[in-house]
Amino acid sequence: MKFISTRGRAPSLSFSDTVLAGLASDGGLYVPESLPSFSTEEIRAMSGLDYRELAFRIIQPFVGGELTDEELRGIIERAYRNFRHGAIAPLVQTGSNEWILELFQGPTLAFKDFALQFLGQLFDHLLKKRGERVVVMGATSGDTGSAAIEGCRHCDNIDIFILHPHNRVSDVQRRQMTTVLSDNVFNIALEGNFDDCQNMVKASFADQSFLPDGRRLVAVNSINWARIMAQIVYYFYAAVSLGAPERTVNFSVPTGNFGDIFAGYLARQMGLPIDQLVIATNANDILHRCISGNDHTPRELVHSLSPSMDIMVSSNFERLLFDLYGRDGAVVADLLADRSAPMHLSQDALSKAREVFSSWTVDDQRTVAVIRELYDSCGYILDPHTAIGVEAARQVRRSTVEPMVCLSTAHPAKFPDAVARALPTEQIPLPAHMQDLFEREERMKVLPNDLGKVHDFMATALGAV
Ligand SMILES: *Cc1c(COP(=O)(O)O)cnc(C)c1O
Repeated sequence: MKFISTRGRAPSLSFSDTVLAGLASDGGLYVPESLPSFSTEEIRAMSGLDYRELAFRIIQPFVGGELTDEELRGIIERAYRNFRHGAIAPLVQTGSNEWILELFQGPTLAFKDFALQFLGQLFDHLLKKRGERVVVMGATSGDTGSAAIEGCRHCDNIDIFILHPHNRVSDVQRRQMTTVLSDNVFNIALEGNFDDCQNMVKASFADQSFLPDGRRLVAVNSINWARIMAQIVYYFYAAVSLGAPERTVNFSVPTGNFGDIFAGYLARQMGLPIDQLVIATNANDILHRCISGNDHTPRELVHSLSPSMDIMVSSNFERLLFDLYGRDGAVVADLLADRSAPMHLSQDALSKAREVFSSWTVDDQRTVAVIRELYDSCGYILDPHTAIGVEAARQVRRSTVEPMVCLSTAHPAKFPDAVARALPTEQIPLPAHMQDLFEREERMKVLPNDLGKVHDFMATALGAV
């Protein structure tokens, strides 16, 4: 399968080159030239499959020709063996036709493990085959960093550098990163904010001359196609468990960079009967304003109780725009030429989006109230991101007889302060494998917000390994 850029001016790439590429050379994101699709009969045959076997069936058409079936099965097997629940992505019922899809059973307690455990194994396989050693560099506001480190720590051909804003991630989030003491893992605490971290990563990708000869940077954020691809699987898994293809199923997704919900859109394009996808946002509600009122105007970033969704401009929205505008890269390039400018969609693009997507925004006060309400009604404890998805689903769902699946993107123990506001007397213990997190040794390098200093640190570290 070939992959093309959403801006139409970069060369098309194979699957493995796409995975190792990051952004396309024209600034666009890679998407498959055409999507595989599954017939009603094929979806019916997915019923009852183990998560890993289902993942194989969904992913195989994207990679066929570049990985053998045996290689792909091996990658999937290793990616999901560290999940704590036999179902990998268990469903829990919380109301009439309302379900929670628990995507936090992986090693770092957030849904990002689904993609990054897979990506780490995929990198390892591809790099061994090529005999190449690469440098992974990424910025994190919390969850991506730990999931990427867990995914890559055992990869022989990767050195990984993760930048987080010094003193601005939670203790649990920081320790999940800094207590990994592998020789190929480097945590940089940057004296700046998340944007500074991200700008530093961008500048490093643009000029990689600071790296030792023969090394290059590889991206692990959700512009990487393989991350989106791995997330398509759980939409099929949940829908088939709840009766698809005989029943239509809907999803509500706590949204930041639009990667997770875009995977749901792809599942629908591939034949899964989904009627409604709910974009659930916190006070950073640009996508809600866009879908509900055609107002995509960036505003000042607000810090909320759901920090993993504190994002001003969602990078993966570009992949949706590409489809909404008939896959015309020139139009997308034009629309996105200035990402800080207001954007208005054409009537045609907007009505196409609204056939599938609904949206809602939930503020901190309401988030806390929803955690409390759901606990009172069924004893289930939501994390603040998931609470936003549940509330949005309840506000905008079109059908009360079709199942509504709310994606649970994090374990409540990862965000204890927000949960404590709703349930001050509840103790939410960390899962067994993290019980000693606060006793473990930490290792990180605090660096000033200075590109040269960061590059010096990286070059020295890479020279030594
Ligand atoms: C990353 C993250 C999100 C947002 O996902 P996107 O794919 O960026 O939309 C939501 N919740 C949690 C807990 C996350 O870590």
